Amino acid sequence: MTSSVSSPSIGTSLMSEAAYRDLWLEVLRKIETKIPRSQFITWFRDTAVLGFEEGTLVVGLPLPMSLNWHLEHYRAMTLTAAQELEPNVRQVVYQVDNGLKDDRTRTFDLLLAFPEQKRRKLPGKQEVKLAEGIVSKILSPRYALENFIVGSSNRLAFAACQSVATQPGGKYNPLFLYGGVGLGKTHLLQATGNAILKQMPKATVVYTTTEDFANQVIETVMNQKWEQFRRRYRLVDVLIIDDVQFLANKERMQEEFFHTFNALYEDRKQIILSADRPPQELQLDDRLVSRFERGMIADVSAPDYETRLAILVEKTKEYELFIDMHVLQFIAEHATKNIRELEGILMQAVAQYELEQRMPTVKSIADIMRKLNKDPHEEAEHTGFEISPKRIASFQDVMEAVSRYYSVSVADMLGQSRVREILIPRQIVMFLCKKYLRMSQTRLGELFSGRDHTTVMNSTNKIEEKLQNDPQMLREVRALEKELDLV
Ligand code: ADP
Ligand code: MG
Repeated sequence: MTSSVSSPSIGTSLMSEAAYRDLWLEVLRKIETKIPRSQFITWFRDTAVLGFEEGTLVVGLPLPMSLNWHLEHYRAMTLTAAQELEPNVRQVVYQVDNGLKDDRTRTFDLLLAFPEQKRRKLPGKQEVKLAEGIVSKILSPRYALENFIVGSSNRLAFAACQSVATQPGGKYNPLFLYGGVGLGKTHLLQATGNAILKQMPKATVVYTTTEDFANQVIETVMNQKWEQFRRRYRLVDVLIIDDVQFLANKERMQEEFFHTFNALYEDRKQIILSADRPPQELQLDDRLVSRFERGMIADVSAPDYETRLAILVEKTKEYELFIDMHVLQFIAEHATKNIRELEGILMQAVAQYELEQRMPTVKSIADIMRKLNKDPHEEAEHTGFEISPKRIASFQDVMEAVSRYYSVSVADMLGQSRVREILIPRQIVMFLCKKYLRMSQTRLGELFSGRDHTTVMNSTNKIEEKLQNDPQMLREVRALEKELDLV
């Protein structure tokens, strides 16, 4: 490293490497307070000041990939911080220096130099007492309508929640949301409760699970304090009950619930319910079903690729993570089942990041997903009831199945060849991914060596046409659908 030997003048500093290092540490101290720790560690590890001449501070970065990120996100901040320490600094420029990696003569071990101070938050109290004898589970502030990503899979449910939030006890009463595990029902229910409380802080909003409700009924059966039980619920302004499928085949619970429901309903109190299936399919007393049907029923279904990606982007913000867009796209492509699965993968990536200081890559995510998929019981979590959801195939699965079936390599399908033996399997992959994985034409085009979305559209149209008139093709596609468990 050379330093300037010109005579000192305004805007020129003569500094030793040790002085550069000291200056950089002070700059880092300032930056550390301004950005989330995870970002700080990720983007500032193995950075250094390489030079300072004529008002130009040269910041060294260990990897070329972080250059754009610094230019875009940290340059102004770095300049301000440096100016606070060295008023002569007029600009910050970057230089990539591969030698910086773990060179502790010039850089810092950020984990040691900036030890983590705040611990992760402990889970708070689970319940809150609202009035004499009225208990609600705590509504998690994490669930808000603002951070709920809306797509075609949940648009109606979301709109209904918004409407209920502004006008509880209005036209959407009761509001009944249904859909599979991990698709956002609890999020919407709690977010609606939160939104109502924001507007009407004095309202008594009770959020409870069907299990809790059932436990209270059982307790009351034992102590016979029915008066108290009934009074309790009738003081409520908004009653939110999650997962009412648990009421199935429990007559006494249904009976009590029916009375509670009617009392609230007649008082124009808002009732919000969720279940894993629509009211008619729940094994419930017809009287209850017809009550539920009086209001608004909306489903939440599995999100499409774009919605999954948008959710991932939102979650990375929430968790203060920096994950490359390609990695997020990879997760969105492959985690098609539900949103809890998406979050699970992200959380594993965070854990890995915190333990090993490894930035998630497509490969590390693929490893995580492989591990997660091994656990056959993950879905039963939280719900307490047995379901056997279909594991929806991923892009990879489709590629592999088609490759096996037609004995063509994945590489050939991804390549440019237009010979029939390769073209047809490629088109079938596109068709299946579009139809069942709900991947967009644009995304598919990108995956297939940057083809245009119209090419993808032509391909899938061709297959659709053939399925109409070519029984052989129909058989083949059906076989693949079966094998991939898509139908
Ligand atoms: P369910 O109650 O239907 O099983 P949850 O509401 O518990 O599902 O959702 C699982 C996770 O996915 C939650 O952490 C929730 O915040 C998140 N989630 C679901 N849908 C969305 C969405 N559209 N936007 C943002 N996060 C979502
Ligand atoms: Mg739930």
